[in-house]
Amino acid sequence: MQNQKKNLAIFGSTGSIGTQALEIVAAYPDLFSVEVLVANNNIDLLVKQARIFKPNVVVVGNDQHYKSVKDQLQDEYIQIYAGEKAVCQVMEMDSFQLVIMAIVGFAALNPTLAAIRNKKTIALANKECLVVAGEHLSKMAVEYKSNILPVDSEHSAIFQCLMGEAGNDIEKIILTASGGPFYNLTLEEMARVTPQMALHHPNWNMGNKVTIDSATLMNKGLEAMEASWLFGVKAENIEILIHPQSIVHSMVTFSDGSTKAQLSQPDMRLPIQYAMTFPNRIPSLVEPLNLATVRSLTFETPDVKKFRNLALAFEALQTGGSLPCVLNASNEMAVQAFLEQKIGFLNIPEIVEESMLSHELIAHPSIGDYVEIDRKARLRAQEIVKRY
Ligand code: NDP
Repeated sequence: MQNQKKNLAIFGSTGSIGTQALEIVAAYPDLFSVEVLVANNNIDLLVKQARIFKPNVVVVGNDQHYKSVKDQLQDEYIQIYAGEKAVCQVMEMDSFQLVIMAIVGFAALNPTLAAIRNKKTIALANKECLVVAGEHLSKMAVEYKSNILPVDSEHSAIFQCLMGEAGNDIEKIILTASGGPFYNLTLEEMARVTPQMALHHPNWNMGNKVTIDSATLMNKGLEAMEASWLFGVKAENIEILIHPQSIVHSMVTFSDGSTKAQLSQPDMRLPIQYAMTFPNRIPSLVEPLNLATVRSLTFETPDVKKFRNLALAFEALQTGGSLPCVLNASNEMAVQAFLEQKIGFLNIPEIVEESMLSHELIAHPSIGDYVEIDRKARLRAQEIVKRY
């Protein structure tokens, strides 16, 4: 196995994925170094990371923090930039080999497009940009010969199952879902769920938005869209199974009826590392799986009546056009409103559904259209939130 040292640009370095990627860098200083760090508001952590990992460039998305970051890092030989444009422009640098795209939400779209245009290899954790503009992103990645390596555990699992299967058609992708903390609650009990309860995921330790999305199962719907674009599979060939143990991360069924799965402990450091070292494997910080202690692996079909978001996401995937963008934007606003205790847990899918119903579909939006569709959908969702 050969692993040359890789210089990394980590976008969203202060988040859950970003900090775990840095843990891997710290564990393997001979394999990785950090060239660029990008974050938004958590400048205390960003400055701390910059002191430890000594990147050449630090970019802070929120330009109000520029002076503070610059002052705090004045004794380090680091170039500091700020603002949305800088987050994209930094992709023009040719001194890093791998982009880790771990900015949360729609904000990752433009930097990801910039990475593709600059022919970068991208370890893509962000799911929202594939949900919103998957068709454009996947076409552009082919056109610009930019490699996208999935980081999300399910897509990493599918990606691993597909190794050695070039030319073999995918019959079905089976995405597994833990079901989140509320899978066995009644609708009445779900109506009383608080942000504190929802932020406590049974198996995974993630950022706030993705944790709430896991609890509403929107996360699985977004992942179905991601899978559709990453692997060229239609909605009808994607199945979701509730698998509370989170050991089987996803599966692929081939035309001969054979199903391949990837199994491991539920720990994001494994798929992050796989994308960082691809196509090689190295020992990881994650304990190997001991199936004898796991004992049983269970699977069941999800209840889409109780978890309405899942049905809405499949509807958006099947309809396509501008609808996934509206679903994503209204979901981001609804999740934020829930975290701010402005709405209840079960209001999240209501807001997403109403936003989708009131949207006039654009069948073939351009990349430029998405910003406007996203902006309008957010405003609409905010108006709906005010009624609660
Ligand atoms: P977090 O909320 O923990 O972190 C988000 C990161 O993005 C932070 O570093 C934040 O900076 C940064 N950021 C946000 N907006 C901007 C912006 N405009 N410009 C620059 N940086 C910005 O999210 P996660 O790490 O949980 O998730 C990241 C992405 O990965 C999401 O799309 C999520 O769906 C996906 N994902 C996450 C998984 C997980 O286990 N966490 C699993 C699979 C996928 P700051 O903190 O400084 O404001």
